[in-house]
Amino acid sequence: VSPTTEQRTEDASGVLRRVFGYDAFRGFQREVIDHVVAGGDALVLMPTGGGKSLCYQIPALVRPGVAVVVSPLIALMQDQVDALTAVGVRAGFLNSTLDLDARRQVERAFVDGELDLLYLAPEALGTRPVQQLLDRGSIALFAIDEAHCVAQWGHDFRPDYLALSMLHERWPAVPRIALTATATTATRAEIATRLKLTEARHFVASFDRPNIQYRIVPKREPRKQLLALLRDEHPGDAGIVYCLSRASVDKTADFLVANGIPALPYHAGLDAVTRATNQQRFLREDGLVMVATIAFGMGIDKPDVRFVAHLDLPKSVEGYYQETGRAGRDGLPSTAWLAYGLQDVVQQRKMIETSDGDLARRRSLAAHLDAMLALCETVRCRRAQLLEYFGEPAAGPCGNCDTCLEPPESWDGTVPAQKLLSTVFRLDRERNQRFGAGHCVDILLGRQTEKITQHTHDQLTVFGIGGELSEAEWRGVVRQLLAEGLLAVEGDYGTLTLTEASAEVLGRRRTVMMRREPERKSAGRAARAK
Ligand code: ADP
Ligand code: ZN
Repeated sequence: VSPTTEQRTEDASGVLRRVFGYDAFRGFQREVIDHVVAGGDALVLMPTGGGKSLCYQIPALVRPGVAVVVSPLIALMQDQVDALTAVGVRAGFLNSTLDLDARRQVERAFVDGELDLLYLAPEALGTRPVQQLLDRGSIALFAIDEAHCVAQWGHDFRPDYLALSMLHERWPAVPRIALTATATTATRAEIATRLKLTEARHFVASFDRPNIQYRIVPKREPRKQLLALLRDEHPGDAGIVYCLSRASVDKTADFLVANGIPALPYHAGLDAVTRATNQQRFLREDGLVMVATIAFGMGIDKPDVRFVAHLDLPKSVEGYYQETGRAGRDGLPSTAWLAYGLQDVVQQRKMIETSDGDLARRRSLAAHLDAMLALCETVRCRRAQLLEYFGEPAAGPCGNCDTCLEPPESWDGTVPAQKLLSTVFRLDRERNQRFGAGHCVDILLGRQTEKITQHTHDQLTVFGIGGELSEAEWRGVVRQLLAEGLLAVEGDYGTLTLTEASAEVLGRRRTVMMRREPERKSAGRAARAK
């Protein structure tokens, strides 16, 4: 029984109720749907879990023809199609996982108009056979999901997305709707330009996720800190733990399992079967912890992820927001927890310095990292800072982030900063030597280490002048100076060097306010908000 005729005359609210079983639209879903049904182009920015899918699925059912959905998430197409089929929507997909027979069947259904939605990988749209196929059917609309993949400096960049600008030239009469959960003004502009969505109406939702509690803690023994978080606050909960490297993913997953937490690894170094199995288990079973690189997560629709933990610093606020956004899609209280330390800053700065690409690209990477560091070091409400980064005025302190719950003290760190910078300045003269943060701190604390004796650094005037701070506090000073660009790292050994701005501090033309390092006992957590 084909419900086609009935559907074509049914309005959006009817489809929402009858097909999807919901009573009311959320946010501006209704406006987007009306706009696209009327043939307009749209750029939709909504946080993860906001309900982007209905924005193109309902127009797909209301407009005549088949909606073509471009999605980079090949691994999830089957799930998406199954979910639609389950509610009686006729959906199919074409990607490299299909055998020839299955492919022919989907192609025939498309040409005969027996589909409501056809999911395609972006690389397929660039091929002649697929373009010719699309010419033989009737297209209701193009939906471009995860549209931020077209942004060249984002970490999800897919070259195939650039070719999607041809949709407009080849099928000018077909409305296009681009959707993403990444939302800085810069990314938004880039999406509009690269996809030639010049006439599109922009629909921008609030990016606040009030049920997520943001917390950023100093990194000491990250795996132990993580374990404490899981045991104290999230026993039995499902969650995602992000690590920078594959090795660290494997080690962390092993560590959690050894400590009685059911954890699975996920990274690009695992074979496809293991990855698919682990992903399926995470989606279907309760209370599993996925330890993963950022290769994991895009498009994952698991509503009850109770925490997202980062053991390493994300490269940008966009990445941080997107990854933490996978927590709490069901609206229930969830935790976004990040452990961050001096080594993160050193490592990421070094990665940028040695990355390929031109100066402009490195500058952009550095600017993105700086914004992330500013979020880590802020003494203000994290949520307010996050929202302002996305161009949204904050309504004041949120009461549900660590800085709101346990306001950090700030202190005048100008004198310690001068002491540290003087030390770096003196070591800088020993050109071919390599002295990292640890050595500088040893000098300030007046420690007679082997390296200090060897280089007679106990003869320096700065030797032992830093007794007023503990080692952890000194490392905090280094980290914050690095974060503010008042200090830089160079080379493979993380050698500290001065920057142009260092002179302002040394010359007493600039004061440096610092965030007080929390006591060890309260380092791991803030009180949970009601
Ligand atoms: P996004 O793609 O923006 O991350 P989804 O489209 O996957 O979000 O929607 C998130 C969840 O919200 C889904 O479970 C979806 O069924 C549900 N949802 C979407 N719109 C509505 C609505 N109007 N009423 C109730 N639930 C909705
Ligand atoms: Zn806050």
